[in-house]
Amino acid sequence: MFNSLSDRLTTTFKNLRGKGRLSEADVDATIREIRRALLDADVALPVVRGFTGKVRERALSAEVSAALNPAQQIVKIVNDQLVEVLGGETRRLQFAKNPPTVIMLAGLQGAGKTTLAGKLGKYLAAEGHTPLLVASDLQRPNAVTQLQVVGERAGVPVYAPEPGNGIGDPIAVAEGGVRHAVEKQHDIVIVDTAGRLGIDEELMQQAADIRNAVTPDEVLFVIDAMIGQDAVRTAEAFADGVGFTGVVLSKLDGDARGGAALSVAEVTGKPVMFASTGENLGDFEPFHPDRMASRILDMGDVLTLIEQAEKAFDQDEAEKMAAKITSGEDFDLNDFLKQMASLRNMGSLKKMIAMMPGAASIREQLDNFDEREVDRVEAIVRSMTPAERTNPKLLNGSRRSRIARGSGVTVTDVNQLMERFGQAQKMMRQMRGGGGGMPGMGGMP
Ligand code: GDP
Repeated sequence: MFNSLSDRLTTTFKNLRGKGRLSEADVDATIREIRRALLDADVALPVVRGFTGKVRERALSAEVSAALNPAQQIVKIVNDQLVEVLGGETRRLQFAKNPPTVIMLAGLQGAGKTTLAGKLGKYLAAEGHTPLLVASDLQRPNAVTQLQVVGERAGVPVYAPEPGNGIGDPIAVAEGGVRHAVEKQHDIVIVDTAGRLGIDEELMQQAADIRNAVTPDEVLFVIDAMIGQDAVRTAEAFADGVGFTGVVLSKLDGDARGGAALSVAEVTGKPVMFASTGENLGDFEPFHPDRMASRILDMGDVLTLIEQAEKAFDQDEAEKMAAKITSGEDFDLNDFLKQMASLRNMGSLKKMIAMMPGAASIREQLDNFDEREVDRVEAIVRSMTPAERTNPKLLNGSRRSRIARGSGVTVTDVNQLMERFGQAQKMMRQMRGGGGGMPGMGGMP
Protein backbone atom coordinates (compact mmCIF):
# COMPACT_ATOMS: atom_id res chain seq x y z
CA MET A 1 0.00 0.00 0.00
CA PHE A 2 2.41 2.77 0.97
CA ASN A 3 4.63 1.67 -1.91
CA SER A 4 4.74 4.84 -3.93
CA LEU A 5 4.99 7.09 -0.88
CA SER A 6 7.75 4.87 0.40
CA ASP A 7 9.61 4.97 -2.92
CA ARG A 8 9.34 8.73 -3.15
CA LEU A 9 10.59 9.33 0.37
CA THR A 10 13.50 6.92 0.07
CA THR A 11 14.59 8.54 -3.20
CA THR A 12 14.44 11.96 -1.58
CA PHE A 13 16.68 10.79 1.24
CA LYS A 14 19.06 9.06 -1.14
CA ASN A 15 19.63 12.41 -2.84
CA LEU A 16 20.56 13.94 0.50
CA ARG A 17 22.94 11.23 1.52
CA GLY A 18 26.03 12.54 -0.26
CA LYS A 19 25.81 15.93 1.35
CA GLY A 20 27.95 16.80 4.33
CA ARG A 21 26.28 19.96 5.54
CA LEU A 22 22.73 20.91 4.70
CA SER A 23 21.95 24.45 3.67
CA GLU A 24 18.52 25.95 4.24
CA ALA A 25 17.97 25.52 0.50
CA ASP A 26 18.73 21.78 0.77
CA VAL A 27 16.25 21.45 3.60
CA ASP A 28 13.60 23.36 1.70
CA ALA A 29 14.08 21.27 -1.42
CA THR A 30 13.69 18.14 0.70
CA ILE A 31 10.58 19.48 2.39
CA ARG A 32 9.07 20.26 -1.01
CA GLU A 33 9.66 16.67 -2.10
CA ILE A 34 8.11 15.32 1.08
CA ARG A 35 5.14 17.61 0.67
CA ARG A 36 4.55 16.43 -2.91
CA ALA A 37 4.93 12.80 -1.94
CA LEU A 38 2.36 13.15 0.85
CA LEU A 39 -0.13 15.02 -1.32
CA ASP A 40 0.22 12.44 -4.08
CA ALA A 41 -0.47 9.75 -1.49
CA ASP A 42 -3.81 11.48 -0.75
CA VAL A 43 -2.89 12.73 2.68
CA ALA A 44 -5.26 15.52 3.71
CA LEU A 45 -3.88 19.02 3.17
CA PRO A 46 -4.00 20.23 6.79
CA VAL A 47 -2.13 17.09 7.84
CA VAL A 48 0.52 17.67 5.16
CA ARG A 49 0.96 21.28 6.29
CA GLY A 50 1.36 20.33 9.93
CA PHE A 51 3.74 17.53 9.03
CA THR A 52 6.08 19.49 6.80
CA GLY A 53 6.00 22.50 9.14
CA LYS A 54 7.25 20.39 12.04
CA VAL A 55 9.86 18.59 9.96
CA ARG A 56 11.20 21.89 8.65
CA GLU A 57 11.42 23.43 12.08
CA ARG A 58 13.42 20.53 13.47
CA ALA A 59 15.52 20.13 10.32
CA LEU A 60 16.75 23.71 10.59
CA SER A 61 17.55 23.42 14.27
CA ALA A 62 20.88 22.78 15.94
CA GLU A 63 19.94 19.10 16.29
CA VAL A 64 20.66 18.66 12.57
CA SER A 65 23.38 21.22 11.89
CA ALA A 66 25.49 19.81 14.71
CA ALA A 67 24.96 16.22 13.64
CA LEU A 68 27.71 14.20 12.03
CA ASN A 69 25.34 12.88 9.43
CA PRO A 70 22.63 15.46 8.68
CA ALA A 71 20.86 13.30 6.10
CA GLN A 72 20.35 10.51 8.61
CA GLN A 73 19.14 13.03 11.09
CA ILE A 74 16.46 14.18 8.67
CA VAL A 75 15.30 10.61 8.13
CA LYS A 76 15.00 10.30 11.89
CA ILE A 77 12.93 13.48 12.11
CA VAL A 78 10.60 12.30 9.35
CA ASN A 79 10.32 8.95 11.09
CA ASP A 80 9.40 10.60 14.42
CA GLN A 81 6.85 12.76 12.68
CA LEU A 82 5.30 9.79 10.88
CA VAL A 83 4.98 7.94 14.17
CA GLU A 84 3.24 10.95 15.68
CA VAL A 85 0.82 11.37 12.77
CA LEU A 86 -0.03 7.68 12.92
CA GLY A 87 -1.06 8.03 16.55
CA GLY A 88 2.13 7.85 18.59
CA GLU A 89 2.32 4.90 20.95
CA THR A 90 0.64 1.62 20.15
CA ARG A 91 -2.85 1.73 21.59
CA ARG A 92 -4.15 -1.63 22.81
CA LEU A 93 -7.75 -2.64 23.43
CA GLN A 94 -9.13 -1.51 26.78
CA PHE A 95 -10.84 -4.34 28.59
CA ALA A 96 -13.72 -3.77 31.00
CA LYS A 97 -13.04 -4.33 34.70
CA ASN A 98 -16.24 -6.33 34.84
CA PRO A 99 -16.52 -8.55 31.77
CA PRO A 100 -17.89 -8.71 29.22
CA THR A 101 -15.94 -6.07 27.36
CA VAL A 102 -18.20 -4.68 24.66
CA ILE A 103 -16.62 -3.70 21.33
CA MET A 104 -18.89 -2.05 18.79
CA LEU A 105 -17.96 -1.77 15.10
CA ALA A 106 -19.13 1.19 13.04
CA GLY A 107 -18.43 2.40 9.52
CA LEU A 108 -19.73 2.69 5.99
CA GLN A 109 -21.21 -0.29 4.19
CA GLY A 110 -18.46 -2.31 2.57
CA ALA A 111 -15.78 -0.91 4.88
CA GLY A 112 -15.05 -4.41 6.12
CA LYS A 113 -16.88 -4.51 9.48
CA THR A 114 -18.31 -8.01 9.21
CA THR A 115 -14.99 -9.42 8.03
CA LEU A 116 -13.29 -7.54 10.86
CA ALA A 117 -15.68 -9.04 13.42
CA GLY A 118 -14.39 -12.48 12.39
CA LYS A 119 -10.74 -11.41 12.33
CA LEU A 120 -10.94 -9.72 15.70
CA GLY A 121 -12.86 -12.66 17.17
CA LYS A 122 -10.28 -15.13 15.93
CA TYR A 123 -7.40 -12.97 17.13
CA LEU A 124 -8.90 -12.51 20.61
CA ALA A 125 -9.78 -16.21 20.89
CA ALA A 126 -6.15 -17.06 20.12
CA GLU A 127 -5.15 -14.76 22.99
CA GLY A 128 -7.27 -16.85 25.33
CA HIS A 129 -10.49 -14.82 25.31
CA THR A 130 -13.98 -16.20 24.70
CA PRO A 131 -15.52 -13.69 22.31
CA LEU A 132 -19.10 -13.63 21.05
CA LEU A 133 -20.08 -11.96 17.77
CA VAL A 134 -23.44 -10.18 17.69
CA ALA A 135 -25.32 -9.60 14.44
CA SER A 136 -26.87 -6.17 14.80
CA ASP A 137 -26.63 -5.40 11.12
CA LEU A 138 -30.22 -6.02 10.06
CA GLN A 139 -30.14 -3.54 7.23
CA ARG A 140 -28.26 -5.37 4.55
CA PRO A 141 -29.86 -8.56 3.28
CA ASN A 142 -27.65 -11.52 4.22
CA ALA A 143 -25.55 -9.58 6.72
CA VAL A 144 -26.64 -11.93 9.50
CA THR A 145 -25.82 -15.03 7.45
CA GLN A 146 -22.49 -13.49 6.44
CA LEU A 147 -21.57 -12.95 10.08
CA GLN A 148 -22.60 -16.54 10.87
CA VAL A 149 -20.35 -17.83 8.10
CA VAL A 150 -17.46 -15.65 9.26
CA GLY A 151 -18.01 -16.78 12.86
CA GLU A 152 -17.92 -20.40 11.84
CA ARG A 153 -14.68 -19.91 9.92
CA ALA A 154 -13.19 -18.09 12.89
CA GLY A 155 -14.46 -20.72 15.34
CA VAL A 156 -16.26 -18.00 17.30
CA PRO A 157 -19.96 -18.26 18.29
CA VAL A 158 -22.46 -15.79 16.85
CA TYR A 159 -25.56 -14.38 18.50
CA ALA A 160 -28.19 -13.59 15.89
CA PRO A 161 -31.86 -12.64 16.09
CA GLU A 162 -34.15 -15.64 15.89
CA PRO A 163 -36.98 -15.25 13.44
CA GLY A 164 -39.89 -13.53 15.17
CA ASN A 165 -37.79 -12.65 18.19
CA GLY A 166 -36.88 -9.01 18.03
CA ILE A 167 -36.01 -9.26 14.34
CA GLY A 168 -35.79 -5.87 12.76
CA ASP A 169 -34.65 -4.18 15.94
CA PRO A 170 -30.86 -3.99 15.98
CA ILE A 171 -30.85 -2.33 19.40
CA ALA A 172 -32.78 -5.20 20.98
CA VAL A 173 -30.40 -7.66 19.28
CA ALA A 174 -27.35 -5.83 20.65
CA GLU A 175 -28.81 -5.83 24.16
CA GLY A 176 -29.83 -9.48 23.81
CA GLY A 177 -26.27 -10.29 22.71
CA VAL A 178 -24.74 -8.70 25.77
CA ARG A 179 -27.21 -10.53 28.07
CA HIS A 180 -26.41 -13.78 26.31
CA ALA A 181 -22.67 -13.14 26.79
CA VAL A 182 -23.18 -12.60 30.53
CA GLU A 183 -25.18 -15.83 30.79
CA LYS A 184 -22.71 -17.90 28.80
CA GLN A 185 -19.68 -16.17 30.31
CA HIS A 186 -18.17 -14.76 27.15
CA ASP A 187 -15.64 -12.17 28.20
CA ILE A 188 -15.86 -10.10 25.01
CA VAL A 189 -18.81 -9.09 22.85
CA ILE A 190 -18.20 -7.78 19.33
CA VAL A 191 -21.25 -5.98 17.95
CA ASP A 192 -21.44 -5.72 14.15
CA THR A 193 -23.69 -2.84 13.10
CA ALA A 194 -25.36 -1.79 9.86
CA GLY A 195 -23.24 0.25 7.53
CA ARG A 196 -24.48 3.01 5.36
CA LEU A 197 -23.64 3.73 1.77
CA GLY A 198 -23.08 7.38 2.39
CA ILE A 199 -23.41 9.42 5.52
CA ASP A 200 -27.03 8.76 6.37
CA GLU A 201 -28.72 10.48 9.33
CA GLU A 202 -31.11 7.67 10.15
CA LEU A 203 -28.50 4.93 10.24
CA MET A 204 -26.10 7.17 12.12
CA GLN A 205 -28.83 7.65 14.73
CA GLN A 206 -29.31 3.88 14.88
CA ALA A 207 -25.61 3.38 15.58
CA ALA A 208 -25.76 6.06 18.28
CA ASP A 209 -28.80 4.29 19.81
CA ILE A 210 -26.96 0.97 19.87
CA ARG A 211 -24.02 2.68 21.49
CA ASN A 212 -26.28 4.22 24.17
CA ALA A 213 -27.99 0.89 24.77
CA VAL A 214 -24.90 -1.27 25.28
CA THR A 215 -22.36 1.39 26.41
CA PRO A 216 -19.39 -0.21 24.65
CA ASP A 217 -15.89 -0.08 26.11
CA GLU A 218 -14.55 0.46 22.62
CA VAL A 219 -16.22 1.77 19.48
CA LEU A 220 -14.03 0.92 16.52
CA PHE A 221 -14.52 2.96 13.38
CA VAL A 222 -13.67 0.79 10.39
CA ILE A 223 -12.50 2.61 7.31
CA ASP A 224 -11.57 1.36 3.87
CA ALA A 225 -8.07 2.71 3.21
CA MET A 226 -8.84 2.83 -0.50
CA ILE A 227 -11.39 5.65 -0.29
CA GLY A 228 -8.65 8.27 -0.40
CA GLN A 229 -9.52 11.87 0.33
CA ASP A 230 -13.08 10.96 1.38
CA ALA A 231 -11.68 9.25 4.44
CA VAL A 232 -11.32 12.41 6.44
CA ARG A 233 -14.87 13.62 5.77
CA THR A 234 -16.30 10.19 6.61
CA ALA A 235 -14.26 9.90 9.78
CA GLU A 236 -15.35 13.33 10.94
CA ALA A 237 -19.01 12.48 10.29
CA PHE A 238 -18.71 9.30 12.38
CA ALA A 239 -16.82 11.10 15.10
CA ASP A 240 -19.70 13.60 15.36
CA GLY A 241 -22.56 11.17 14.77
CA VAL A 242 -21.56 8.12 16.80
CA GLY A 243 -18.22 8.87 18.37
CA PHE A 244 -15.46 6.28 18.43
CA THR A 245 -12.46 5.34 20.51
CA GLY A 246 -10.21 3.87 17.84
CA VAL A 247 -9.78 3.37 14.12
CA VAL A 248 -9.35 0.19 12.09
CA LEU A 249 -7.86 0.60 8.62
CA SER A 250 -9.11 -2.08 6.28
CA LYS A 251 -7.95 -3.09 2.81
CA LEU A 252 -4.41 -1.94 3.46
CA ASP A 253 -3.43 -4.69 1.01
CA GLY A 254 -4.94 -2.79 -1.91
CA ASP A 255 -2.98 -0.39 -4.05
CA ALA A 256 -4.38 2.51 -2.08
CA ARG A 257 -2.04 5.40 -1.71
CA GLY A 258 -2.34 5.32 2.04
CA GLY A 259 -3.45 8.89 2.65
CA ALA A 260 -6.37 7.71 4.76
CA ALA A 261 -4.04 6.04 7.20
CA LEU A 262 -1.93 9.14 7.53
CA SER A 263 -4.86 11.50 7.91
CA VAL A 264 -7.56 9.89 10.02
CA ALA A 265 -5.72 9.54 13.31
CA GLU A 266 -4.38 13.08 13.12
CA VAL A 267 -7.68 14.67 12.11
CA THR A 268 -9.89 12.85 14.62
CA GLY A 269 -7.36 12.55 17.41
CA LYS A 270 -8.22 8.84 17.71
CA PRO A 271 -5.51 6.24 17.23
CA VAL A 272 -5.38 3.56 14.57
CA MET A 273 -5.57 0.29 16.50
CA PHE A 274 -5.71 -2.45 13.89
CA ALA A 275 -4.94 -3.00 10.24
CA SER A 276 -6.79 -5.38 7.95
CA THR A 277 -4.74 -6.54 5.01
CA GLY A 278 -6.77 -9.04 3.01
CA GLU A 279 -9.90 -11.12 2.73
CA ASN A 280 -8.66 -14.03 4.85
CA LEU A 281 -9.26 -14.08 8.59
CA GLY A 282 -5.53 -14.16 9.29
CA ASP A 283 -4.91 -10.96 7.32
CA PHE A 284 -5.08 -8.78 10.36
CA GLU A 285 -2.62 -7.20 12.75
CA PRO A 286 -2.49 -4.78 15.64
CA PHE A 287 -1.31 -1.43 14.36
CA HIS A 288 1.98 -0.11 15.68
CA PRO A 289 2.65 3.47 14.51
CA ASP A 290 6.41 3.08 14.94
CA ARG A 291 6.55 -0.13 12.92
CA MET A 292 4.38 1.34 10.17
CA ALA A 293 6.60 4.42 9.95
CA SER A 294 9.58 2.12 9.68
CA ARG A 295 7.91 0.22 6.83
CA ILE A 296 7.13 3.46 5.01
CA LEU A 297 10.76 4.55 5.27
CA ASP A 298 11.87 1.13 4.04
CA MET A 299 13.56 0.24 7.28
CA GLY A 300 11.46 -2.91 7.52
CA ASP A 301 9.28 -4.27 10.26
CA VAL A 302 11.31 -7.05 11.73
CA LEU A 303 9.38 -7.12 15.01
CA THR A 304 6.12 -8.03 13.30
CA LEU A 305 7.92 -10.62 11.23
CA ILE A 306 9.32 -12.26 14.35
CA GLU A 307 5.95 -12.22 16.09
CA GLN A 308 4.32 -13.89 13.11
CA ALA A 309 7.05 -16.49 13.00
CA GLU A 310 6.63 -17.20 16.70
CA LYS A 311 2.93 -17.81 16.18
CA ALA A 312 3.34 -19.92 13.05
CA PHE A 313 6.22 -22.14 14.09
CA ASP A 314 5.57 -25.01 16.42
CA GLN A 315 8.00 -24.43 19.29
CA ASP A 316 8.67 -28.16 19.81
CA GLU A 317 9.26 -28.75 16.13
CA ALA A 318 11.58 -25.75 15.91
CA GLU A 319 13.60 -27.01 18.87
CA LYS A 320 13.81 -30.50 17.45
CA MET A 321 14.95 -29.06 14.16
CA ALA A 322 17.55 -26.86 15.85
CA ALA A 323 18.82 -29.84 17.86
CA LYS A 324 19.05 -31.88 14.70
CA ILE A 325 21.04 -29.23 12.90
CA THR A 326 23.44 -28.60 15.76
CA SER A 327 23.97 -32.31 16.42
CA GLY A 328 25.46 -32.71 12.97
CA GLU A 329 22.59 -34.61 11.41
CA ASP A 330 21.70 -33.50 7.93
CA PHE A 331 18.66 -31.41 7.24
CA ASP A 332 16.61 -33.56 4.84
CA LEU A 333 13.64 -33.05 2.57
CA ASN A 334 11.18 -34.21 5.23
CA ASP A 335 12.38 -31.33 7.38
CA PHE A 336 12.07 -29.13 4.37
CA LEU A 337 8.38 -30.07 3.96
CA LYS A 338 7.70 -29.26 7.61
CA GLN A 339 9.32 -25.88 7.19
CA MET A 340 7.23 -25.18 4.13
CA ALA A 341 4.10 -25.90 6.18
CA SER A 342 5.24 -23.47 8.88
CA LEU A 343 6.03 -20.83 6.29
CA ARG A 344 2.53 -21.23 4.91
CA ASN A 345 1.15 -20.69 8.40
CA MET A 346 2.85 -17.33 8.40
CA GLY A 347 0.80 -16.31 5.38
CA SER A 348 1.86 -14.74 2.15
CA LEU A 349 5.58 -14.88 1.40
CA LYS A 350 5.26 -11.64 -0.50
CA LYS A 351 3.92 -9.86 2.57
CA MET A 352 6.71 -11.30 4.68
CA ILE A 353 9.48 -10.24 2.34
CA ALA A 354 7.93 -6.79 2.11
CA MET A 355 8.60 -6.44 5.85
CA MET A 356 12.35 -6.83 5.42
CA PRO A 357 14.50 -3.71 5.51
CA GLY A 358 15.32 -2.58 1.98
CA ALA A 359 12.35 -4.39 0.42
CA ALA A 360 11.53 -1.26 -1.59
CA SER A 361 14.62 -1.77 -3.69
CA ILE A 362 13.38 -5.18 -4.88
CA ARG A 363 9.77 -4.14 -5.27
CA GLU A 364 9.64 -5.08 -8.95
CA GLN A 365 10.85 -8.62 -8.30
CA LEU A 366 8.45 -8.82 -5.38
CA ASP A 367 5.52 -7.77 -7.55
CA ASN A 368 6.45 -10.43 -10.06
CA PHE A 369 6.95 -13.09 -7.43
CA ASP A 370 4.50 -15.91 -7.93
CA GLU A 371 3.18 -17.36 -4.66
CA ARG A 372 2.41 -20.57 -6.54
CA GLU A 373 6.14 -21.21 -6.72
CA VAL A 374 5.77 -22.50 -3.17
CA ASP A 375 3.04 -24.92 -4.31
CA ARG A 376 5.27 -26.19 -7.10
CA VAL A 377 8.17 -26.81 -4.77
CA GLU A 378 5.92 -28.61 -2.34
CA ALA A 379 4.41 -30.73 -5.10
CA ILE A 380 7.87 -31.82 -6.22
CA VAL A 381 8.92 -32.88 -2.72
CA ARG A 382 5.61 -34.66 -2.16
CA SER A 383 6.17 -36.71 -5.32
CA MET A 384 9.32 -38.22 -3.82
CA THR A 385 9.29 -41.44 -1.83
CA PRO A 386 10.15 -41.21 1.90
CA ALA A 387 13.49 -42.86 1.16
CA GLU A 388 14.30 -40.25 -1.47
CA ARG A 389 13.39 -37.45 0.92
CA THR A 390 15.73 -38.79 3.57
CA ASN A 391 18.51 -39.50 1.13
CA PRO A 392 18.38 -37.14 -1.87
CA LYS A 393 21.51 -38.83 -3.28
CA LEU A 394 19.19 -41.58 -4.56
CA LEU A 395 17.74 -39.15 -7.07
CA ASN A 396 19.15 -40.36 -10.38
CA GLY A 397 17.87 -39.38 -13.82
CA SER A 398 14.98 -41.82 -14.03
CA ARG A 399 13.76 -41.03 -10.54
CA ARG A 400 13.90 -37.34 -11.36
CA SER A 401 11.79 -37.75 -14.47
CA ARG A 402 9.25 -39.82 -12.51
CA ILE A 403 9.04 -37.02 -9.92
CA ALA A 404 8.70 -34.37 -12.63
CA ARG A 405 5.81 -36.30 -14.17
CA GLY A 406 4.21 -36.84 -10.78
CA SER A 407 4.27 -33.18 -9.87
CA GLY A 408 3.49 -31.72 -13.27
CA VAL A 409 6.80 -29.88 -13.71
CA THR A 410 9.85 -30.36 -15.94
CA VAL A 411 13.00 -32.28 -15.02
CA THR A 412 14.84 -28.95 -15.10
CA ASP A 413 12.54 -27.70 -12.31
CA VAL A 414 13.37 -30.77 -10.24
CA ASN A 415 17.10 -30.31 -10.90
CA GLN A 416 16.94 -26.65 -9.93
CA LEU A 417 15.17 -27.43 -6.70
CA MET A 418 17.70 -30.12 -5.82
CA GLU A 419 20.52 -27.73 -6.52
CA ARG A 420 19.01 -25.09 -4.25
CA PHE A 421 18.37 -27.71 -1.63
CA GLY A 422 22.01 -28.80 -1.81
CA GLN A 423 23.08 -25.21 -1.23
CA ALA A 424 20.73 -24.86 1.72
CA GLN A 425 22.14 -28.04 3.22
CA LYS A 426 25.65 -26.69 2.80
CA MET A 427 24.60 -23.47 4.50
CA MET A 428 23.18 -25.46 7.39
CA ARG A 429 26.49 -27.24 7.80
CA GLN A 430 28.31 -23.92 7.87
CA MET A 431 25.87 -22.52 10.39
CA ARG A 432 26.55 -25.52 12.54
CA GLY A 433 30.19 -24.54 12.54
CA GLY A 434 29.29 -21.12 13.92
CA GLY A 435 26.51 -22.44 16.15
CA GLY A 436 23.16 -20.73 16.60
CA GLY A 437 21.58 -19.34 13.50
CA MET A 438 17.91 -18.99 12.92
CA PRO A 439 16.05 -22.27 13.16
CA GLY A 440 13.08 -22.46 10.91
CA MET A 441 14.26 -20.42 7.97
CA GLY A 442 16.61 -22.89 6.36
CA GLY A 443 16.01 -24.13 2.87
CA MET A 444 13.73 -21.25 2.04
CA PRO A 445 13.49 -21.26 -1.75
P1 GDP B 1 -19.19 -4.41 5.87
O1 GDP B 1 -20.28 -4.00 4.93
O2 GDP B 1 -18.55 -3.22 6.51
O3 GDP B 1 -19.60 -5.44 6.87
O4 GDP B 1 -18.03 -5.02 4.95
P2 GDP B 1 -17.65 -6.55 4.67
O5 GDP B 1 -16.97 -7.12 5.86
O6 GDP B 1 -18.83 -7.25 4.15
O7 GDP B 1 -16.54 -6.36 3.55
C1 GDP B 1 -16.84 -5.85 2.27
C2 GDP B 1 -15.94 -6.53 1.24
O8 GDP B 1 -14.59 -6.17 1.45
C3 GDP B 1 -15.98 -8.03 1.30
O9 GDP B 1 -15.95 -8.51 -0.02
C4 GDP B 1 -14.71 -8.41 2.05
O10 GDP B 1 -14.23 -9.69 1.66
C5 GDP B 1 -13.77 -7.32 1.60
N1 GDP B 1 -12.75 -7.03 2.60
C6 GDP B 1 -12.90 -6.81 3.93
N2 GDP B 1 -11.72 -6.52 4.52
C7 GDP B 1 -10.77 -6.56 3.54
C8 GDP B 1 -9.33 -6.35 3.50
O11 GDP B 1 -8.67 -6.04 4.49
N3 GDP B 1 -8.75 -6.47 2.28
C9 GDP B 1 -9.45 -6.79 1.16
N4 GDP B 1 -8.78 -6.89 0.02
N5 GDP B 1 -10.76 -6.99 1.16
C10 GDP B 1 -11.44 -6.88 2.32
